[in-house]
Amino acid sequence: MAERTLYEILEVPKTATPDDIKSSFRRLAQKYHPDRNPNDRQAEEKFKEVNAAYEVLHDPKKRAMYDELGPDAIKIGFDEAQAESYRQWKKASSGRGARTSGFSSEFNFDFGAGQGSDFRSIFETLFGGFGGGRKSKDGQSPRGSRRQLVIDGEDQELQISIPFHLAVRGGNHTVRFTRSERCGLCGGSGSAPSGRGTCRACGGSGSKPETTQSLEVRIPAGAAEGTKIRLAGQGMPGMNGGKPGDLYLLLHVEPHPRVRREGKDLYLDLPVTPLEAFRGGEVRCPTFDGNFTLTIPQHSQSGRKLRLKGLGVPDLKGGARGDFYVVLQVVLPERDAPELLEACETLSRAIGTADVRSSVVL
Ligand SMILES: [Zn+2]
Repeated sequence: MAERTLYEILEVPKTATPDDIKSSFRRLAQKYHPDRNPNDRQAEEKFKEVNAAYEVLHDPKKRAMYDELGPDAIKIGFDEAQAESYRQWKKASSGRGARTSGFSSEFNFDFGAGQGSDFRSIFETLFGGFGGGRKSKDGQSPRGSRRQLVIDGEDQELQISIPFHLAVRGGNHTVRFTRSERCGLCGGSGSAPSGRGTCRACGGSGSKPETTQSLEVRIPAGAAEGTKIRLAGQGMPGMNGGKPGDLYLLLHVEPHPRVRREGKDLYLDLPVTPLEAFRGGEVRCPTFDGNFTLTIPQHSQSGRKLRLKGLGVPDLKGGARGDFYVVLQVVLPERDAPELLEACETLSRAIGTADVRSSVVL
């Protein structure tokens, strides 16, 4: 359900003047007033909503904070210190290092009894309450003190390059990256979890010095370009004890100088001598599963494909492995010698220069 904005509730544009707001409020309050709508629950709800919206929008300070933070302003009870923490935390979230992606906008709140409880009940009616109380990490209950905003950290995305063979075979990989890390205790707000004073872990700066981190990551066999790996809890820390976000690794697979990959199939160009191609025989062929003995059929041409079934790329979802194709490449000597020329003349006579390109018609 998309939450209506307070402006929508009061049926005014965001640019409305204080007078616009006041007159629209009067009109709607009269329309939905319980005296005019006896025993009409819907009208009663509307009346409460309109009152709650006006409560914010007619107050310049609250309106400004609402314009800046949206419904979060309501959730923190328009507390300026909390708003400042929130701003600091947001700022720290856009720090250098790993690129941030989608935000987790899951909020957990702790509300103390006491100040603003009338206000709170209005908004509970309006927004359906503020969810279960969550204790801060040090066990300190904010009961009777300031309300505390606990926000989970954002997810982050980091692009990493892995060698070709690792994507095929899978295995452990060490990822190194630098990031400006937020203080884990306050999550970058710089204020103590109680909301009073500065954070004892970072002394109020909200951050730790930029560090190079390394993570041991398990790359699954069959990983491909663009495969995403989720590392739970390795994203940005939350605020005031909120859960850390996740780190997503976006894989880039480095090209291999000899092997091409097409889906789950692999292609290796394997050099063979003219004699091996002509007479056929057994040659040694490397694969990602070790060396295999490959039988070359008699009279093979350059470009002939030989299939090693099931030695291709494993299926990430547990399906069948791809195949490994060996593409024969007949090589000729690259140096000059009279006997080489003679040998080639013999070969050419056998093929016939008139016939060699006769089938090539475009
Ligand atoms: Zn701190």
